[in-house]
Amino acid sequence: MSIALPVRSPSLHSKQSHPLRFEGYDTVINPLSSFLGMFSHDIAIDLGTANTLVSVRGRGIVIDEPSVVAIDRVTKRVLAIGAEAKRMVGRTPSSIIAVRPLRDGVISDFATTEKMLQYFIRSVHERFGMGVGKPRVVIGIPSGATEVEKRAVHDAAVAAGARAAYLIEEPMAAAIGAGLPVMDAAGSMCVDIGGGTTEVAVIALGGIVRSQSARAAGDAMDMAIMDYARQVHNLLIGERTAEQLKIATGSAFPMDDEATADLRGRDLATGLPKSVEVSTVEIRDALSVVVNEIVRTVRATIETTPPELVADLMMHGIAMTGGGSLLRGLDRKIATETRFPVYVGEDPLRSVVRGCADVLEETETLQKVQSAVASRRPPR
Ligand code: ADP
Ligand code: MG
Repeated sequence: MSIALPVRSPSLHSKQSHPLRFEGYDTVINPLSSFLGMFSHDIAIDLGTANTLVSVRGRGIVIDEPSVVAIDRVTKRVLAIGAEAKRMVGRTPSSIIAVRPLRDGVISDFATTEKMLQYFIRSVHERFGMGVGKPRVVIGIPSGATEVEKRAVHDAAVAAGARAAYLIEEPMAAAIGAGLPVMDAAGSMCVDIGGGTTEVAVIALGGIVRSQSARAAGDAMDMAIMDYARQVHNLLIGERTAEQLKIATGSAFPMDDEATADLRGRDLATGLPKSVEVSTVEIRDALSVVVNEIVRTVRATIETTPPELVADLMMHGIAMTGGGSLLRGLDRKIATETRFPVYVGEDPLRSVVRGCADVLEETETLQKVQSAVASRRPPR
């Protein structure tokens, strides 16, 4: 497999034709360090509320796992991380708890987040080696993260062996990953609908001009389906069943092919297993509370956006990213309610990690879009 080289570094091929010379670089990074960096496995990480993705430079995405950690309640020992831990959700004996440390879009559980981050960075090291130099790491973090939380993530990455750690707010990373022209003077809008939060951001000149965040996203949709099953059908269903149903049959806008689905769970009255047939129209109805809240957040962000930028958005449309953007008809629903063109970005579950990987390749962009904490300047 060929290794993608940074644009402004000497290519390995030029080494053969003429000896390496460092003059004439227009990068802001130290040439020697950038040279060593060529041989280390620089890493991009999307620390999402539902999924963590890791991309290694030159190799692409190597880890795509749920942001779940299984912990022994008594000893506090970590028993499993990622997919294995997610399998335990809802099935764990009472001595094991499955934690999603970023569930609400804030890092509610530092220590666990740190462990998860280190586990993922280390597993990259184990699989690909450290390279000659230590890697640089770019991490997408929720935009609601506080200074203390950012510091914790930064330090955890350094403790796990990073030469330098850069933090980028997720809406910015998502926009870059969706291919939006974030450095342009013209504004663009990205709506990132993840598990825990929906983040709406208007971006221009490499900065976030306006943003709003709401707790209405994938998890809330799952909860809405669970509530519906309980209230309307007296049926208790698990979180994962609800998620599967949402993905298979959920929608936000009337479809040509409305169908029915089986809802399986436990009858609240008898305690016995029960299955009921529900229509996709009913499921859409159940999801509408969450969908409407997402629409409201988008509209509220547009309302506070400077008029010049609103005109740009009219032209270029709104890009949606994140797993929640895959809910059928959500693009049409938002387009109808806002009168803006709306489209789902390519491979939306991977936009953030792609955006983080992109800035690893472009040092100047990285300097500009990174979140302030990594510069180690004390807050004034
Ligand atoms: P985060 O960035 O918060 O980790 P993701 O962008 O990975 O979140 O999205 C995860 C969410 O997307 C989950 O709630 C998941 O159920 C939801 N999701 C994934 N695929 C689909 C789909 N096809 N339709 C609706 N929701 C989906
Ligand atoms: Mg995300």
